[in-house]
Amino acid sequence: MSGDIELASYPGLDARIRVLRLGTVVDAVFVRTERFDVLVDTLDTPETCRAALDLVGAGGDRPLIVVNSHMDWDHFWGNAAVADRSVIVAHAGASERFRNGSVHEVLARKASTDPRFATVELCAPTVTFLDRLSLEGGDLTLELLHTPGHAPDHVAVWIPQLRTCLAVDAVERPIPKVWSDDPADLRALVGSLRLIESLGARHVVLAHGQTDAPSTVGRNLRYFETLSERVGRLDRRLTVEENGELPAGLTLADTVENLPNLSADARRFYERFHRANLRATVRAIGEGAA
Ligand SMILES: [Zn+2]
Repeated sequence: MSGDIELASYPGLDARIRVLRLGTVVDAVFVRTERFDVLVDTLDTPETCRAALDLVGAGGDRPLIVVNSHMDWDHFWGNAAVADRSVIVAHAGASERFRNGSVHEVLARKASTDPRFATVELCAPTVTFLDRLSLEGGDLTLELLHTPGHAPDHVAVWIPQLRTCLAVDAVERPIPKVWSDDPADLRALVGSLRLIESLGARHVVLAHGQTDAPSTVGRNLRYFETLSERVGRLDRRLTVEENGELPAGLTLADTVENLPNLSADARRFYERFHRANLRATVRAIGEGAA
C-alpha cells in the first residue's frame, strides 16, 4: 500500500503546498516555507510516511516540523518515520488520547487482520498546545487551530498568506463524523465548522474527499442544521439503529446536498457517519441543547 502514495494538487493551490495522497484512504499535506518544511500528518505507516517524504524531497539540511492533526490511525501511525529527526506537534488532547490506551487497542486490532500494520510502532507527539500555535516560516505562517468535534484533539491549519485552510477531518465530503453522541461534541464540531467558515479561505483542503472547495464547509454546516431542524420536528423520539430504516427526510441522501457518487464501501462508511451524527442530534434535541 505504501507504494500507492502519490502527489496531488488543486487548480490555483500554491506550489509550496503539496498534497500527499494515499489512494482513497487519506491525504496528508506538505508545506515548504523559507525556514522549514512542515508535514501535516504522517499517514498510516512509517513506510508510507517515508515514501511520502521522498516524493517531496524532504530531508537533507532542511528542518522538518511534523504536525499530527489528531490521533486517528490514518493520520499519525507514520510518526516513527520522523520521530528521530523532527518535533511532532499536536493538541494537548492528543497526548491524552495516546496515554489512555485506545489508540494502542486500535493498532492491536488492525495489526491482527492486516500484516501491513504488524510492524507499526506508535510514537507520541513531542510538543503540545491548547488553543492556537503559530509556526513562523518567514514567507508563510502556519496557524494551528484547535478545532474539536470530530475528535477532541483535532487541529486544523490556517495559512493566512495563501488564504488556505488545511481542514483535515473537521470538514469532510460528503459529511464529517462527530466524536460521540454527547451533545457537547456536536456543538464543538459545528463550532469548528463555523470557525473555519469565518476564515474566508480560498482553498479548504480536506484529508478525505479529495477537494479544496470552500463550499464544502457551508454544505457540512447546512447538513447539521438540516438534521437538527428535521429531528426537532419529529413528534416522537427517534431511535437510530445501525441497520434500521430511517424516517423519510432523514436518510443520508435526504440530508446531504449534492451527495457525490459513492462506491458501495464508501456508501456504507458514510452511512455509519450519518447515523452517528443523527444519534448525537437526537440526544442534543432531547436535552434541549441543539
Ligand atoms: Zn481521517
